[in-house]
Amino acid sequence: DQFADNHFIRSIIEDDLQSGKCQRVITRFPPEPNGYLHIGHAKSICLNFGLAYIYDGLCNLRFDDTNPEKESDEYVRSIKEDVQWLGFQWNEECFASDYFERLYEYALELIKAGKAYVDDLDAEEMRQYRGTLMEPGKNSPYRERTIEENLDLFARMRAGEFPDGSKTLRLKIDMAAGNINLRDPVIYRIRRVHHHRTGDKWVIYPMYDYTHAISDAIENITHSLCTLEFESHRPLYDWVVENIEIAHQPHQYEFSRLELLYSITSKRKLNQLVVQDHVSGWDDPRMPTISGMRRRGYTPEGLRLFAKRVGISKSENVVDMSVLEGAIREDLESVAPRMIAVLNPIKVELINFDEALTQSREAPFHPHHPEMGERLMPLTKTIYIEADDFALDPPKGWQRLTLGGEVRLRYSYVIKCEEVVQDASGRVVSLKCSIDHDTLASKPQGRKVKGVIHWLSTEHAVSATVRLYDRLFTVERPDAVRGDDGQYRDFIEFLNPASVTEIDALVEPVANTLAPETRYQFERLGYFVTDRYDHSAENPVFNRTVTLRDTWQT
Ligand code: ATP
Ligand code: MG
Ligand code: MG
Repeated sequence: DQFADNHFIRSIIEDDLQSGKCQRVITRFPPEPNGYLHIGHAKSICLNFGLAYIYDGLCNLRFDDTNPEKESDEYVRSIKEDVQWLGFQWNEECFASDYFERLYEYALELIKAGKAYVDDLDAEEMRQYRGTLMEPGKNSPYRERTIEENLDLFARMRAGEFPDGSKTLRLKIDMAAGNINLRDPVIYRIRRVHHHRTGDKWVIYPMYDYTHAISDAIENITHSLCTLEFESHRPLYDWVVENIEIAHQPHQYEFSRLELLYSITSKRKLNQLVVQDHVSGWDDPRMPTISGMRRRGYTPEGLRLFAKRVGISKSENVVDMSVLEGAIREDLESVAPRMIAVLNPIKVELINFDEALTQSREAPFHPHHPEMGERLMPLTKTIYIEADDFALDPPKGWQRLTLGGEVRLRYSYVIKCEEVVQDASGRVVSLKCSIDHDTLASKPQGRKVKGVIHWLSTEHAVSATVRLYDRLFTVERPDAVRGDDGQYRDFIEFLNPASVTEIDALVEPVANTLAPETRYQFERLGYFVTDRYDHSAENPVFNRTVTLRDTWQT
């Protein structure tokens, strides 16, 4: 199938279905709407929606919106668009904020059971009381408040009687627990911040662990999949669902986070690139966001293939860019039609061009897909070739054009360079070449011509803006470089100053008929896509998605 092969979570699910522990698989993808989704989220989306697909189950899209200061409707909208673009449809669209009232009621239940209390310690004091890995914590002096007092204080916290940060609601678990997450975790804090959905209704907000566990239980999630840093939170997750009155008991399983070299997979850091204007936005084609990769020309199929290849496990999942680009290339190979573009042109005059004698041929849009059709490649007296395909002083083994040398024009004749026109400084301005008229559909007589170059008729070529991209960062792990003082250096220092180059290029007239987000291979140059926003049929704009060969191997 198209999703990750047998991995430990599939084994768990198959056992659960077999044993009857679970009747129907229900998963969820739970982004916080505090940024756009990135390649790491794509892995999680493919996992959660993929499992629902494989086992004929359901997957919810849940917005984990409990940190109002960083969340917005724009992020909600972009997340929905990205999930759909990747090819998935959710069962229910849920918001943790829709559960605020129920979460509050569960908190009352916990207080009444003597399992939660209002604490007056501030953040710094709480840190001191919490202890360390080596040393148990100490009970807060407020831990033994009566149930009545706690009920009263918690109601007044909700009513807005206390300033921000002055009180919290904590679970009464065990301040000596080996797992620090169980040392009376905070489940509510006072924050007077406008929420993108609940407005100013609440001044207390529930914390992640508490909210997540109960949201999973409410939605009947069977397999709650998250990344490994939550492994030590699982005992708290279990504690919460075991200590509230709720029918369904979800279970959490952890897998390793995807890390992409020469890139960044943290919404907070990607946000920094956006707000500091290092990129044009979250969907800049250099960004590892789903919307950026979309704009770059990556395909949903290619990203799903990538997610399948990186797999699911608990071991480190650090992946080279070549794996991502390889998957994209593999998908584009058979779906992108081909055309000719000349990025850096010089003119060639075909000195023996003869209207009556010189013919033009049809060229297929794809060598293996005749259904994509073909078009005439008109040969005219002057053509453009790529400046790089000519060398006055060629290196050994040169198979392209040089003075006195021959080369085949793709879909056309063999030509020979007879004369080089240079300006006063010696720069090559144009070439004069002759056509061997016996070579249109046959090999040249008595000699081998190995090189084939691309070209465009000067009369038919149309201009286009082409954007060439390089890696966004100059080091493998931009956010993990330490300076001499042992401190992490700002990843912004490692931005590649030449990550985008915009040029005026020449392309085939078909470019003037294309809609935005149309993918083509430019022969010999790479895969390109018409820009989602900036392209128009009158003024074509192409982004290079990926080169044809792996240029990442060093
Ligand atoms: P970030 O640090 O970028 O904000 P996050 O984990 O806080 O990431 P969420 O919006 O909470 O982002 O993530 C939604 C889901 O996507 C979570 O289940 C999370 O585990 C998963 N996820 C996020 N980043 C990655 C990653 N790099 N690899 C795999 N899964 C990821
Ligand atoms: Mg998160
Ligand atoms: Mg985060």
